[in-house]
Amino acid sequence: MNDAIDASEHLTDWLRNAHAMEQQSEAMLKTMADRLEHYPDLHARTVEHLNETRWQREQLEGCLERLGTSPSTLKDITGKLMAFGESAVAMMSSDEVVKGAMGAYVFEHMEIASYTVLIRAAEAVGDQQTKLVCEQILQQEVAMADWLLQHLPSTTSHFLSRSARPGVKAKN
Ligand code: MG
Ligand code: FE
Repeated sequence: MNDAIDASEHLTDWLRNAHAMEQQSEAMLKTMADRLEHYPDLHARTVEHLNETRWQREQLEGCLERLGTSPSTLKDITGKLMAFGESAVAMMSSDEVVKGAMGAYVFEHMEIASYTVLIRAAEAVGDQQTKLVCEQILQQEVAMADWLLQHLPSTTSHFLSRSARPGVKAKN
């Protein structure tokens, strides 16, 4: 009896997880973008990354199709997410912009870890196309994480001054 799992099976499994992660990301970025009317820079960057995220999801679907995973299998895993992403998701779902920005930053790092793993796994099975896709996605996630960190202080200041003003909705 051979219960060994080869690298290509792991690659497919991790690609499916990444696809579910991007679906989750898409939903959260959309929700966040709708709440950022008073934060034009953060709003613009969130919308930009929302568009990147849709592109990422499509790229992952292409990788899975090439590896022989049917679209119906893809539907089954919608909404599935690794447990350690849950606190990030909870923060991003908050209606407070500072928590949202923190959660987005944490979530980007889950994505960075995922694509770092996927790049090495794609190398291991000699899947150059998947490797290239994951390298491109990784760059977008790193850029978004950097941007969020760089803008956390100004987002915090803006939130605090709005929060202290009477008549302004304190939570965002
Ligand atoms: Mg992503
Ligand atoms: Fe991302």
